[in-house]
Amino acid sequence: MAAAMAAACCGLEKETVMGEQKAPGACPRCGGAVVATDVESVRRVLCCLPLCVKNKRKFSCARCRRSLAALSTHA
Ligand SMILES: [Zn+2]
Repeated sequence: MAAAMAAACCGLEKETVMGEQKAPGACPRCGGAVVATDVESVRRVLCCLPLCVKNKRKFSCARCRRSLAALSTHA
């Protein structure tokens, strides 16, 4: 219990899904539709002090859920 709380407090990268939308292109594996997922990532190194916040856009296949190439964008 104590170890889990410590892990939740320090050195954890928390990701929050901001939204999903259809993306152009098709899955190279099954040809299914590509979905772009916007994720806000907050990396905490010191307790309760966010040092790095960045928005990422992840691409995955809507049919087979394979993770496709990810792009990083600055907020
Ligand atoms: Zn697929």
